[in-house]
Amino acid sequence: MNKTNETLFERAQQVIPGGVSSPVRAFRAVGGTPRFIVRGHGPRVWDAQGKAYLDYVLSWGPLIAGHAHPAVVEAVSRAAQGGLSFGMPTEAEIELAELIRASVPSLERLRFTSSGTEATMSALRLARGFTGRSRIIKFEGCYHGHADALLVKAGSGLLTFGNPSSAGVPAEAAQHTLVLDFNNVAQLEETFAREGDQIGAVIVEAVAGNMNLVPGSAEFLQTMRRLCSQYGSVLIFDEVMTGFRVHPGSAQGLYGITPDLTTFGKVIGGGMPVGVFGGRKDIMQCVAPLGPVYQAGTLSGNPVAMAAGMATLNLTLAPGFHERLTVLTRRLVDGLNLIGRDLGGRISASNVGSMFGLYFSAAPPADFAQVMSADREGFNRFFHQMLERGVHLAPSAFEAGFMSSAHTEEDIDATLAAARASLEADS
Ligand SMILES: *Cc1c(COP(=O)(O)O)cnc(C)c1O
Repeated sequence: MNKTNETLFERAQQVIPGGVSSPVRAFRAVGGTPRFIVRGHGPRVWDAQGKAYLDYVLSWGPLIAGHAHPAVVEAVSRAAQGGLSFGMPTEAEIELAELIRASVPSLERLRFTSSGTEATMSALRLARGFTGRSRIIKFEGCYHGHADALLVKAGSGLLTFGNPSSAGVPAEAAQHTLVLDFNNVAQLEETFAREGDQIGAVIVEAVAGNMNLVPGSAEFLQTMRRLCSQYGSVLIFDEVMTGFRVHPGSAQGLYGITPDLTTFGKVIGGGMPVGVFGGRKDIMQCVAPLGPVYQAGTLSGNPVAMAAGMATLNLTLAPGFHERLTVLTRRLVDGLNLIGRDLGGRISASNVGSMFGLYFSAAPPADFAQVMSADREGFNRFFHQMLERGVHLAPSAFEAGFMSSAHTEEDIDATLAAARASLEADS
């Protein structure tokens, strides 16, 4: 029997909960059958039935150079032939660490993990260990991976499923997590005035990409920086999504704000499992073996993953790489806004570098409440229309989209034509 997406999904559900290894992939919010992917190349993926899709998910952000970029594949193959993992230090770790620090100097010291979740979880433990304070601030709609203390009013899949906090997180694990409103300066100031001396860390997505795309306002981020310095709290920029994506210097380079700690993931692994946490030397030296904060990983700094990261970051360092990517992303966003205007404000769009938001609202949202007022049903129908036309968007109205350097102007124009046809078919 020929393998179809349906038969594979049926089979997957007999052995994997929901048939997927990460929840949003299951298409629960948008309905229908997930596509089972057999191959990716450049800006496209192909499913089990041989259908091609222009991909704006790109493995949820990592593939900034597109699928199976020859330089990345070559680097990974070469590394793999030399051994898959050693559990002993390698020069590849030094090289990637040096490369990261050269672009983002606030990471005076950094350590590798195998996922973004591990990076944020470790950064949080470190901030608490350094300050001796338990309380932390996060913002509603920001997603920082699935560590217990951070799974409170979070974005991404939790928003998609309309349940922004998880069962199984003991109240005790989240009781020190204060959730504030993203982009609300006054509330942040009041909170610090009340209990600033008890706050160990503030963690934020400077450009929020897990409640669709909502950039932090400069005032919001500057206030956060000022208050953290004033009260001795550790400012953590979670750049797992924005790192090496929104600007050559990441979000902190874009805004000109220096956090105390930063987390990376996604792009720095180029499609392999990598995370990083790093920052001020005095804080990072609290990590074992130098200090009392324990953190470790059997596969951390894995040589094959380091090779993928190096090759990918080297591609992004080519002159004009980010500029060209931003121009491509603008072409898509301008085109979508034009369609939105032609159709009476049904959609709007915006971008920060090569991250973009497509909103089912007349204008881009500036805060969480505005994000939540989007026409979700409209998005869900649009998602399937686009999929039919061979364009793969994230299966949720609350996820950002991504551009790769493998996309061409022709690809974008085809995407815009598909978007117009999809919306017109739905009116
Ligand atoms: C994806 C993401 C994470 C989690 O990374 P994983 O590798 O999925 O564990 C954390 N923070 C942000 C901002 C992310 O976008």
